[in-house]
Amino acid sequence: MNLLHISSAFDSGAIEVLSLTDPADIQLRIRSDHAADFAQWFHFCLHGAAGVPVTLRFMNAGQCSYPAGFKGYQVVASYDRQHWFRIDTQFDGQVMTARTTPATQALYLAYFEPYSYEQHLDLLASASTSPHTTPERLGASLDGRDITVLRVTHAQGSVPLAERKKIWVIARQHPGETMAAWFVEGLLERLLDTSDSVSRVLLEQSVFYVVPNMNPDGAVRGNLRTNAAGADLNRAWESPALEGAPEVFWVRQKMLEVGVDVSLDVHGDEGLPYVFVAGSEGTPGYSPRIAELEATFKNAWIAACPDFQDTHHYSVGAPGKANMGLATHWVAQQFACLAFTVEMPFKDNANLPDPHVGWNGERSRKLGASVLQPLLALL
Ligand code: ZN
Repeated sequence: MNLLHISSAFDSGAIEVLSLTDPADIQLRIRSDHAADFAQWFHFCLHGAAGVPVTLRFMNAGQCSYPAGFKGYQVVASYDRQHWFRIDTQFDGQVMTARTTPATQALYLAYFEPYSYEQHLDLLASASTSPHTTPERLGASLDGRDITVLRVTHAQGSVPLAERKKIWVIARQHPGETMAAWFVEGLLERLLDTSDSVSRVLLEQSVFYVVPNMNPDGAVRGNLRTNAAGADLNRAWESPALEGAPEVFWVRQKMLEVGVDVSLDVHGDEGLPYVFVAGSEGTPGYSPRIAELEATFKNAWIAACPDFQDTHHYSVGAPGKANMGLATHWVAQQFACLAFTVEMPFKDNANLPDPHVGWNGERSRKLGASVLQPLLALL
Protein backbone atom coordinates (compact mmCIF):
# COMPACT_ATOMS: atom_id res chain seq x y z
CA MET A 1 0.00 0.00 0.00
CA ASN A 2 1.35 3.39 -1.05
CA LEU A 3 1.61 6.23 1.43
CA LEU A 4 -0.65 9.04 0.28
CA HIS A 5 0.41 12.64 0.59
CA ILE A 6 -0.95 15.97 -0.60
CA SER A 7 1.35 18.95 -1.12
CA SER A 8 0.51 22.51 -2.07
CA ALA A 9 3.64 24.48 -1.07
CA PHE A 10 4.23 25.84 -4.57
CA ASP A 11 3.15 28.77 -6.76
CA SER A 12 -0.66 29.16 -6.48
CA GLY A 13 -0.90 26.02 -4.32
CA ALA A 14 -4.05 25.93 -2.18
CA ILE A 15 -5.96 23.19 -0.32
CA GLU A 16 -6.60 21.93 3.21
CA VAL A 17 -6.50 18.20 3.93
CA LEU A 18 -9.12 16.89 6.35
CA SER A 19 -8.59 13.15 5.89
CA LEU A 20 -6.07 11.20 3.84
CA THR A 21 -6.19 7.71 5.35
CA ASP A 22 -8.56 6.06 2.86
CA PRO A 23 -7.94 6.56 -0.90
CA ALA A 24 -11.65 5.90 -1.46
CA ASP A 25 -12.56 8.82 0.82
CA ILE A 26 -10.00 11.61 0.68
CA GLN A 27 -11.61 14.59 2.40
CA LEU A 28 -10.50 18.11 1.44
CA ARG A 29 -11.46 21.66 2.28
CA ILE A 30 -11.16 24.50 -0.26
CA ARG A 31 -9.45 27.25 1.68
CA SER A 32 -10.19 30.98 1.65
CA ASP A 33 -8.08 33.71 0.08
CA HIS A 34 -5.16 34.77 2.27
CA ALA A 35 -6.90 37.84 3.75
CA ALA A 36 -10.52 37.60 2.56
CA ASP A 37 -13.48 35.24 2.75
CA PHE A 38 -13.57 34.30 -0.95
CA ALA A 39 -12.98 30.59 -1.50
CA GLN A 40 -13.06 28.63 -4.77
CA TRP A 41 -9.48 28.17 -6.06
CA PHE A 42 -7.53 24.99 -5.35
CA HIS A 43 -4.27 23.59 -6.70
CA PHE A 44 -2.36 20.67 -5.19
CA CYS A 45 -0.46 17.47 -5.90
CA LEU A 46 -1.63 14.02 -4.83
CA HIS A 47 1.31 11.68 -4.25
CA GLY A 48 1.50 7.92 -3.93
CA ALA A 49 -1.73 6.82 -5.65
CA ALA A 50 -0.46 5.27 -8.90
CA GLY A 51 -2.97 2.63 -10.04
CA VAL A 52 -5.21 3.20 -7.02
CA PRO A 53 -8.81 4.36 -7.60
CA VAL A 54 -9.16 7.54 -5.54
CA THR A 55 -12.22 9.54 -4.51
CA LEU A 56 -11.56 13.18 -3.61
CA ARG A 57 -14.33 14.86 -1.67
CA PHE A 58 -14.29 18.67 -1.44
CA MET A 59 -16.39 18.87 1.71
CA ASN A 60 -17.12 22.64 1.72
CA ALA A 61 -17.83 23.17 -1.98
CA GLY A 62 -21.38 24.23 -1.14
CA GLN A 63 -20.06 27.00 1.15
CA CYS A 64 -17.61 28.44 -1.38
CA SER A 65 -18.02 31.83 -3.09
CA TYR A 66 -19.78 30.47 -6.20
CA PRO A 67 -21.34 27.07 -5.44
CA ALA A 68 -23.14 27.21 -8.81
CA GLY A 69 -19.66 27.18 -10.35
CA PHE A 70 -19.31 23.53 -9.29
CA LYS A 71 -22.55 22.50 -11.05
CA GLY A 72 -21.58 20.80 -14.31
CA TYR A 73 -17.92 21.49 -13.51
CA GLN A 74 -15.09 18.93 -13.87
CA VAL A 75 -11.85 19.12 -11.87
CA VAL A 76 -8.68 19.79 -13.94
CA ALA A 77 -5.73 17.38 -13.62
CA SER A 78 -2.23 16.87 -15.05
CA TYR A 79 0.75 14.52 -14.75
CA ASP A 80 3.34 16.71 -16.49
CA ARG A 81 1.92 20.18 -15.51
CA GLN A 82 1.80 20.96 -19.26
CA HIS A 83 -1.23 19.01 -20.44
CA TRP A 84 -4.37 19.37 -18.32
CA PHE A 85 -7.47 17.23 -18.68
CA ARG A 86 -10.80 16.92 -16.90
CA ILE A 87 -11.69 14.13 -14.48
CA ASP A 88 -15.06 12.68 -13.51
CA THR A 89 -16.69 15.12 -11.02
CA GLN A 90 -20.10 15.39 -9.35
CA PHE A 91 -21.59 18.08 -7.11
CA ASP A 92 -24.60 17.44 -4.86
CA GLY A 93 -24.99 21.05 -3.71
CA GLN A 94 -22.73 20.53 -0.68
CA VAL A 95 -19.87 18.14 -1.46
CA MET A 96 -18.00 18.02 -4.77
CA THR A 97 -16.71 14.53 -5.51
CA ALA A 98 -13.99 13.77 -8.07
CA ARG A 99 -12.91 10.24 -9.02
CA THR A 100 -9.89 9.04 -10.93
CA THR A 101 -7.18 6.37 -10.96
CA PRO A 102 -3.82 8.15 -11.23
CA ALA A 103 -1.49 6.60 -13.81
CA THR A 104 1.61 7.84 -11.97
CA GLN A 105 2.70 8.60 -8.41
CA ALA A 106 2.19 12.37 -8.69
CA LEU A 107 -1.10 13.83 -9.98
CA TYR A 108 -1.64 17.59 -10.00
CA LEU A 109 -5.19 18.87 -9.55
CA ALA A 110 -6.49 22.43 -9.90
CA TYR A 111 -9.63 24.52 -10.30
CA PHE A 112 -8.34 25.62 -13.71
CA GLU A 113 -5.13 25.20 -15.72
CA PRO A 114 -2.59 27.22 -13.68
CA TYR A 115 -0.40 30.04 -14.97
CA SER A 116 2.59 30.62 -12.70
CA TYR A 117 4.49 33.78 -11.84
CA GLU A 118 7.52 32.35 -13.68
CA GLN A 119 5.37 31.95 -16.81
CA HIS A 120 4.27 35.56 -16.37
CA LEU A 121 7.91 36.75 -16.16
CA ASP A 122 8.79 34.62 -19.20
CA LEU A 123 5.93 36.21 -21.14
CA LEU A 124 7.06 39.74 -20.23
CA ALA A 125 10.64 38.91 -21.22
CA SER A 126 9.82 37.20 -24.53
CA ALA A 127 7.37 39.96 -25.57
CA SER A 128 10.02 42.55 -24.70
CA THR A 129 12.49 41.06 -27.21
CA SER A 130 10.28 42.51 -29.99
CA PRO A 131 11.42 45.91 -31.33
CA HIS A 132 7.77 46.99 -31.07
CA THR A 133 7.51 46.36 -27.31
CA THR A 134 8.57 48.67 -24.48
CA PRO A 135 8.07 47.26 -20.98
CA GLU A 136 7.47 49.77 -18.22
CA ARG A 137 7.52 48.99 -14.52
CA LEU A 138 4.74 51.13 -13.04
CA GLY A 139 5.30 50.30 -9.37
CA ALA A 140 5.23 47.49 -6.84
CA SER A 141 2.53 45.24 -5.44
CA LEU A 142 2.20 44.89 -1.66
CA ASP A 143 4.54 41.87 -1.67
CA GLY A 144 7.05 43.82 -3.78
CA ARG A 145 6.36 42.29 -7.20
CA ASP A 146 6.54 44.46 -10.31
CA ILE A 147 3.36 45.82 -11.86
CA THR A 148 4.37 45.96 -15.51
CA VAL A 149 2.69 47.40 -18.60
CA LEU A 150 3.88 46.45 -22.09
CA ARG A 151 3.56 49.29 -24.59
CA VAL A 152 3.33 47.77 -28.08
CA THR A 153 3.27 49.79 -31.30
CA HIS A 154 5.17 50.19 -34.60
CA ALA A 155 7.56 53.14 -34.66
CA GLN A 156 6.96 53.71 -38.40
CA GLY A 157 3.19 53.50 -38.61
CA SER A 158 0.76 54.99 -41.12
CA VAL A 159 -0.78 57.14 -38.37
CA PRO A 160 1.35 59.66 -36.39
CA LEU A 161 2.09 58.34 -32.88
CA ALA A 162 0.17 61.10 -31.11
CA GLU A 163 -2.99 60.35 -33.11
CA ARG A 164 -3.01 56.61 -32.60
CA LYS A 165 -5.80 54.95 -30.61
CA LYS A 166 -4.77 53.76 -27.15
CA ILE A 167 -5.93 50.17 -26.65
CA TRP A 168 -5.63 48.87 -23.06
CA VAL A 169 -5.79 45.19 -22.18
CA ILE A 170 -5.55 44.27 -18.49
CA ALA A 171 -5.81 40.77 -17.06
CA ARG A 172 -6.01 38.77 -13.86
CA GLN A 173 -7.34 41.38 -11.48
CA HIS A 174 -8.92 38.24 -10.04
CA PRO A 175 -5.87 35.99 -9.67
CA GLY A 176 -7.68 32.64 -9.73
CA GLU A 177 -8.99 33.46 -13.21
CA THR A 178 -5.86 32.11 -14.90
CA MET A 179 -7.60 31.86 -18.29
CA ALA A 180 -7.05 35.63 -18.46
CA ALA A 181 -3.26 35.10 -18.45
CA TRP A 182 -3.52 32.54 -21.26
CA PHE A 183 -5.73 34.95 -23.21
CA VAL A 184 -3.10 37.70 -23.00
CA GLU A 185 -0.34 35.29 -24.00
CA GLY A 186 -2.24 34.42 -27.19
CA LEU A 187 -3.04 38.07 -27.88
CA LEU A 188 0.60 39.16 -27.49
CA GLU A 189 1.93 36.28 -29.57
CA ARG A 190 -0.29 37.24 -32.51
CA LEU A 191 0.22 40.98 -32.04
CA LEU A 192 4.00 40.53 -32.30
CA ASP A 193 3.78 38.21 -35.33
CA THR A 194 5.12 40.37 -38.16
CA SER A 195 3.63 38.04 -40.80
CA ASP A 196 0.09 38.71 -39.51
CA SER A 197 -1.55 41.53 -41.49
CA VAL A 198 -4.17 42.22 -38.80
CA SER A 199 -1.41 42.79 -36.24
CA ARG A 200 0.65 44.92 -38.63
CA VAL A 201 -2.22 47.30 -39.32
CA LEU A 202 -3.15 47.47 -35.63
CA LEU A 203 0.42 48.32 -34.61
CA GLU A 204 0.72 50.99 -37.30
CA GLN A 205 -2.52 52.67 -36.29
CA SER A 206 -2.76 52.16 -32.54
CA VAL A 207 -0.75 51.79 -29.34
CA PHE A 208 -1.41 48.78 -27.11
CA TYR A 209 -0.93 48.99 -23.35
CA VAL A 210 -1.04 45.44 -21.99
CA VAL A 211 -0.94 44.54 -18.28
CA PRO A 212 -0.72 40.72 -18.29
CA ASN A 213 -0.96 40.38 -14.51
CA MET A 214 -2.74 42.99 -12.38
CA ASN A 215 -2.52 40.85 -9.24
CA PRO A 216 0.74 38.86 -9.01
CA ASP A 217 0.56 38.57 -5.20
CA GLY A 218 -2.89 37.02 -5.23
CA ALA A 219 -1.80 34.68 -8.03
CA VAL A 220 1.28 33.37 -6.19
CA ARG A 221 -0.68 33.08 -2.93
CA GLY A 222 -3.31 30.93 -4.60
CA ASN A 223 -6.15 33.42 -4.06
CA LEU A 224 -9.33 33.32 -6.10
CA ARG A 225 -10.18 36.99 -6.06
CA THR A 226 -8.04 39.27 -3.87
CA ASN A 227 -4.57 40.74 -3.39
CA ALA A 228 -2.23 40.39 -0.38
CA ALA A 229 -4.36 42.84 1.64
CA GLY A 230 -7.61 41.04 0.83
CA ALA A 231 -8.75 43.72 -1.65
CA ASP A 232 -10.91 42.78 -4.65
CA LEU A 233 -9.07 44.94 -7.20
CA ASN A 234 -12.07 45.04 -9.52
CA ARG A 235 -14.03 46.95 -6.90
CA ALA A 236 -11.25 49.47 -6.16
CA TRP A 237 -11.10 51.69 -9.25
CA GLU A 238 -12.92 54.75 -7.89
CA SER A 239 -10.31 55.58 -5.25
CA PRO A 240 -7.52 52.98 -5.02
CA ALA A 241 -5.27 53.53 -1.98
CA LEU A 242 -1.55 52.83 -2.28
CA GLU A 243 -1.65 50.81 0.95
CA GLY A 244 -4.69 48.72 -0.04
CA ALA A 245 -4.72 48.38 -3.82
CA PRO A 246 -1.44 49.75 -5.21
CA GLU A 247 -1.81 47.53 -8.31
CA VAL A 248 -4.88 49.53 -9.39
CA PHE A 249 -3.33 52.82 -8.27
CA TRP A 250 -0.33 52.40 -10.60
CA VAL A 251 -2.27 51.23 -13.64
CA ARG A 252 -4.95 53.90 -13.21
CA GLN A 253 -2.27 56.58 -12.94
CA LYS A 254 -0.74 55.44 -16.25
CA MET A 255 -4.15 55.42 -17.91
CA LEU A 256 -4.74 59.01 -16.78
CA GLU A 257 -1.30 59.93 -18.15
CA VAL A 258 -1.63 58.43 -21.66
CA GLY A 259 -5.40 58.09 -22.13
CA VAL A 260 -7.68 55.22 -23.15
CA ASP A 261 -9.71 54.76 -26.36
CA VAL A 262 -10.57 51.07 -25.91
CA SER A 263 -10.29 48.94 -22.76
CA LEU A 264 -10.56 45.18 -22.30
CA ASP A 265 -10.44 43.75 -18.77
CA VAL A 266 -10.05 39.97 -19.02
CA HIS A 267 -11.70 37.57 -16.53
CA GLY A 268 -13.13 34.10 -16.01
CA ASP A 269 -16.66 33.35 -14.86
CA GLU A 270 -17.35 30.47 -12.46
CA GLY A 271 -20.96 29.94 -13.46
CA LEU A 272 -21.78 30.66 -17.12
CA PRO A 273 -20.39 28.09 -19.61
CA TYR A 274 -19.86 30.67 -22.38
CA VAL A 275 -17.47 33.36 -23.62
CA PHE A 276 -19.13 36.77 -23.35
CA VAL A 277 -18.52 40.45 -22.64
CA ALA A 278 -20.05 42.93 -20.20
CA GLY A 279 -20.11 46.60 -21.18
CA SER A 280 -20.76 49.91 -19.44
CA GLU A 281 -24.56 50.21 -19.88
CA GLY A 282 -25.15 51.28 -16.29
CA THR A 283 -22.65 54.16 -16.24
CA PRO A 284 -23.88 57.80 -16.37
CA GLY A 285 -21.89 58.46 -19.55
CA TYR A 286 -23.29 55.54 -21.56
CA SER A 287 -24.39 56.92 -24.94
CA PRO A 288 -25.66 55.84 -28.38
CA ARG A 289 -22.08 56.31 -29.64
CA ILE A 290 -20.75 53.78 -27.08
CA ALA A 291 -23.63 51.41 -27.85
CA GLU A 292 -22.73 51.54 -31.54
CA LEU A 293 -19.05 50.86 -30.82
CA GLU A 294 -20.08 47.91 -28.61
CA ALA A 295 -22.21 46.47 -31.42
CA THR A 296 -19.39 46.88 -33.97
CA PHE A 297 -16.94 45.09 -31.68
CA LYS A 298 -19.30 42.25 -30.77
CA ASN A 299 -20.45 41.61 -34.34
CA ALA A 300 -16.86 41.56 -35.59
CA TRP A 301 -15.85 39.11 -32.83
CA ILE A 302 -18.81 36.83 -33.55
CA ALA A 303 -17.72 36.78 -37.21
CA ALA A 304 -14.06 36.13 -36.32
CA CYS A 305 -14.43 33.45 -33.62
CA PRO A 306 -17.25 30.92 -33.02
CA ASP A 307 -16.20 30.65 -29.35
CA PHE A 308 -17.54 34.18 -28.77
CA GLN A 309 -21.28 34.76 -28.49
CA ASP A 310 -23.67 37.45 -27.24
CA THR A 311 -26.75 35.40 -26.30
CA HIS A 312 -25.73 34.35 -22.79
CA HIS A 313 -24.29 37.11 -20.56
CA TYR A 314 -24.85 39.03 -17.31
CA SER A 315 -28.09 40.97 -16.99
CA VAL A 316 -27.57 44.43 -18.46
CA GLY A 317 -26.99 47.15 -15.82
CA ALA A 318 -29.85 49.61 -15.24
CA PRO A 319 -29.02 53.20 -16.28
CA GLY A 320 -27.01 55.02 -13.62
CA LYS A 321 -26.81 51.95 -11.36
CA ALA A 322 -23.30 50.80 -12.30
CA ASN A 323 -20.75 50.00 -9.56
CA MET A 324 -18.07 52.55 -10.46
CA GLY A 325 -15.43 50.54 -8.58
CA LEU A 326 -15.24 48.13 -11.54
CA ALA A 327 -12.42 48.83 -13.98
CA THR A 328 -14.72 48.68 -17.02
CA HIS A 329 -17.18 51.17 -15.52
CA TRP A 330 -14.57 53.58 -14.21
CA VAL A 331 -12.62 53.55 -17.49
CA ALA A 332 -15.74 53.95 -19.66
CA GLN A 333 -16.90 56.90 -17.58
CA GLN A 334 -13.50 58.59 -17.17
CA PHE A 335 -12.47 58.38 -20.82
CA ALA A 336 -15.93 58.30 -22.51
CA CYS A 337 -14.69 55.23 -24.37
CA LEU A 338 -15.55 51.65 -25.25
CA ALA A 339 -14.77 49.36 -22.31
CA PHE A 340 -15.57 45.67 -21.93
CA THR A 341 -15.08 43.03 -19.31
CA VAL A 342 -14.25 39.81 -21.19
CA GLU A 343 -15.46 36.64 -19.47
CA MET A 344 -14.33 33.08 -20.25
CA PRO A 345 -15.76 29.94 -18.63
CA PHE A 346 -14.13 27.84 -15.92
CA LYS A 347 -16.27 24.92 -17.14
CA ASP A 348 -16.51 24.80 -20.94
CA ASN A 349 -18.09 26.64 -23.83
CA ALA A 350 -21.46 24.84 -24.00
CA ASN A 351 -21.76 25.79 -27.69
CA LEU A 352 -18.49 24.01 -28.59
CA PRO A 353 -17.77 21.62 -25.73
CA ASP A 354 -14.61 19.53 -25.44
CA PRO A 355 -15.28 16.81 -22.84
CA HIS A 356 -11.58 15.89 -22.55
CA VAL A 357 -10.15 19.31 -21.62
CA GLY A 358 -13.17 21.61 -21.21
CA TRP A 359 -12.29 25.28 -21.55
CA ASN A 360 -8.51 25.44 -21.09
CA GLY A 361 -5.35 27.48 -21.52
CA GLU A 362 -4.92 26.77 -25.22
CA ARG A 363 -8.51 27.72 -26.05
CA SER A 364 -8.05 30.92 -24.03
CA ARG A 365 -4.85 31.66 -26.02
CA LYS A 366 -6.70 31.18 -29.32
CA LEU A 367 -9.50 33.43 -28.12
CA GLY A 368 -6.97 36.10 -27.11
CA ALA A 369 -5.47 35.99 -30.59
CA SER A 370 -8.92 36.26 -32.18
CA VAL A 371 -9.79 39.48 -30.32
CA LEU A 372 -7.42 41.43 -32.59
CA GLN A 373 -9.97 41.13 -35.40
CA PRO A 374 -12.78 43.08 -33.61
CA LEU A 375 -10.19 45.59 -32.39
CA LEU A 376 -9.21 46.16 -36.03
CA ALA A 377 -12.89 46.61 -36.89
CA LEU A 378 -13.02 49.55 -34.46
CA LEU A 379 -10.18 51.49 -36.10
ZN1 ZN B 1 -13.15 38.18 -12.43
